[in-house]
Amino acid sequence: ELYNIIQELKGNIRVYCRVRPFLPGQNSYLSTVESVRDDGSIVIFNPLKQGKEQRRVFSFNKVFGPSATQERVFLDTQPLIRSVLDGYNVCIFAYGQTGSGKTYTMSGPNSTSQDDWGVNYRALNDLFEICELRRKVMQYDISVQMIEIYNEQVRDLFNMDGSNKKFEIRNNSQQNGLNVPDAKLLPVTSTEDVLHLMDLGQSNRAVGATALNERSSRSHSVLTVHAKGVDLASGCVTRGCLHLIDLAGSERVDKSEATGDRLKEAQHINKSLSALGDVIAALAQKSPHVPYRNSKLTQLLQDSLGGQAKTLMFVHISPDLESYGETMSTLKFAERVA
Ligand code: ADP
Ligand code: MG
Repeated sequence: ELYNIIQELKGNIRVYCRVRPFLPGQNSYLSTVESVRDDGSIVIFNPLKQGKEQRRVFSFNKVFGPSATQERVFLDTQPLIRSVLDGYNVCIFAYGQTGSGKTYTMSGPNSTSQDDWGVNYRALNDLFEICELRRKVMQYDISVQMIEIYNEQVRDLFNMDGSNKKFEIRNNSQQNGLNVPDAKLLPVTSTEDVLHLMDLGQSNRAVGATALNERSSRSHSVLTVHAKGVDLASGCVTRGCLHLIDLAGSERVDKSEATGDRLKEAQHINKSLSALGDVIAALAQKSPHVPYRNSKLTQLLQDSLGGQAKTLMFVHISPDLESYGETMSTLKFAERVA
């Protein structure tokens, strides 16, 4: 309750920045992250620049340093997630260059340890726990959809027949927030169900791709959790949607080097990430015109961005000096939507 009131006062868009640790074998003394402060600011330092250019400070709602645990990150996300059970639509995005930790935040590394679980498993786990607690007053039905947007085409990752059928986005569908009505919507009753389905979805993502990693960094994956609640006393129905979005890598592709399919992919990604930035920036500035129609992603999420809906953007950065250029463009993107 209190969280929702504070949230109302602050507006509905949050930006969190997460710095991933150095990976084994990386030169850890060459970090561009000079400091991470409790007030949500981060200082980026580049010894190769001169004067004022050397140091830049960016401010967000929160910054997680390289040692922040999955649990810590989730705790600051949990209230937003829970509001889905009260009928809110929520979008949580992971933005950043390939290798900066987007999938780590959303799903976790490829390990079975619960400590490593990312936001999506923890979110479902938490929702099931709350449903159980409210069992005497509310009856909830939770179901999930998993789709991928690749080259501005929508695919259903739960569609197991191997066909590469393309799905249409329909706004103003019967169910608020669920804008691909033809994609499979599967009921789930436990976190095990979800783990199983997400594995299935992930494996489906690889179909037709040369390598899973390659493909996953060039498409957006959207896990949508739909929660329908019936108040057992009054019969009132609430519907909320949680969208967990692992975005395509934001790195700029060298136009002189990329050709053919690679260039086309890069252009689609570029277009959809800037369309997303434009929509969130328009909402943050309370602009009367919000340009939802410019990409499939923003069309898909139209009724979960703006209005009463809540948005959380996790921006990810790599600490190494080689990533400095991408880090700066990620932080500038984030600053614009904050
Ligand atoms: P992306 O999805 O943005 O391409 P990944 O999530 O795959 O990046 O992360 C790249 C590598 O860094 C993976 O090996 C991942 O396990 C590791 N990694 C990312 N973030 C963290 C973190 N916060 N702590 C530990 N390892 C991380
Ligand atoms: Mg990834």
